[in-house]
Amino acid sequence: MRKTRLLTPGPTPVPERVLLRMAQPILHHRSPDFEALFERVRGKLKKLFGTQQEVITFVSSGSGAMEASIVNFLRRGDKIIVVDGGKFGERFGKIAQAYGVEPIILKVEWGKAVDIAAVKKALDENPDVRAVCVQASETSTGVAHPVKEICELTRNHQAITIVDGITAVGVWDMPMDEWGIDILLSGSQKALMLPPGLAFAAVSEKAWKHNETANLPRFYFDIKKEHGSQKKNQTAWTAAVSLLAGLDEVLNIIEEEGYDELYARHDRMARASRAAMEALGLELFAENPSPAVTTVKAPEGLGSGKIVKHLNKTYGIRLVAGQDHVKDTIFRIAHLGYFDDFDVLTAINAIEMTLNDLGHPVARGKGVAAAQEILSA
Ligand SMILES: *Cc1c(COP(=O)(O)O)cnc(C)c1O
Repeated sequence: MRKTRLLTPGPTPVPERVLLRMAQPILHHRSPDFEALFERVRGKLKKLFGTQQEVITFVSSGSGAMEASIVNFLRRGDKIIVVDGGKFGERFGKIAQAYGVEPIILKVEWGKAVDIAAVKKALDENPDVRAVCVQASETSTGVAHPVKEICELTRNHQAITIVDGITAVGVWDMPMDEWGIDILLSGSQKALMLPPGLAFAAVSEKAWKHNETANLPRFYFDIKKEHGSQKKNQTAWTAAVSLLAGLDEVLNIIEEEGYDELYARHDRMARASRAAMEALGLELFAENPSPAVTTVKAPEGLGSGKIVKHLNKTYGIRLVAGQDHVKDTIFRIAHLGYFDDFDVLTAINAIEMTLNDLGHPVARGKGVAAAQEILSA
């Protein structure tokens, strides 16, 4: 027998308690039971996002919330700044173009965080910019961008800050209201420990002002319509009732763990993963690493594709390699959501065995030992 272990940055594993909760009989979405459930979920989501605003739920993958954050707040021909340092940054630019919004693309070398001076310069040179789009955690490169600093730049500018927090919300503390984030996005299948199918967007007062003049086409993702329904514990369209029941359970698990420990656990797992890879003589890829995922350069002459294939086939460990031009040069160790210290140790162990199997000898247990130093501190 061999177990299969999903150690990827989305979808992520789902806790047994949540699976059981989602297996309960289907609720009807126009019923008092559903409204009571949704009211509880709405309250807990606000705490998680650090906001007094409504956290609006969509039935879609995370990209649906990205699209909603463009179509509901901008006008045809508007200029926006897009931080593009990876696959997801690039997606914001593509969505904007699809709707006739003009993105000013701030290209960032993969593996690096955006330089705050470059954002400032772009804002100064383009006072008519209406939004800045950025990933808090760029999952394709494992980089965390300086969201708080970007919000300080837009605070006194007409531009709103649209933050893709899909692998950040629930990973580290990013209080939306305190930091001045205008639109904060998340999705179900990452740190929220659920199957794919829900996306979230919380909206500031400043962003609601943009909504009044927005004229891009939208129907399913009309956020004002959703907001009107969701404030009253209803949804515009059929709610994903079972996923919302699962979310109720997830948010209970998070509150039982406590926010301090939730964030401390992610930070600890990330530090242990990085220390382990460095102890094995491997180079880290991300300059300002996200605590959600550790990106590692494959050793010279050994493609990361081969590493992840071996991990999967031989050990049942599902890790992912890179995307696009770093597809075969990096691999990614996820540690977000339903992950604990021993998931991290398992990943490190399997990586050590794999490197030895593939003719890149590393000292057995050296990475694990480095991780233990951090995990048992
Ligand atoms: C997963 C993810 C998304 C959304 O991707 P979907 O496949 O649509 O769920 C967006 N941004 C980031 C940073 C992500 O990690």
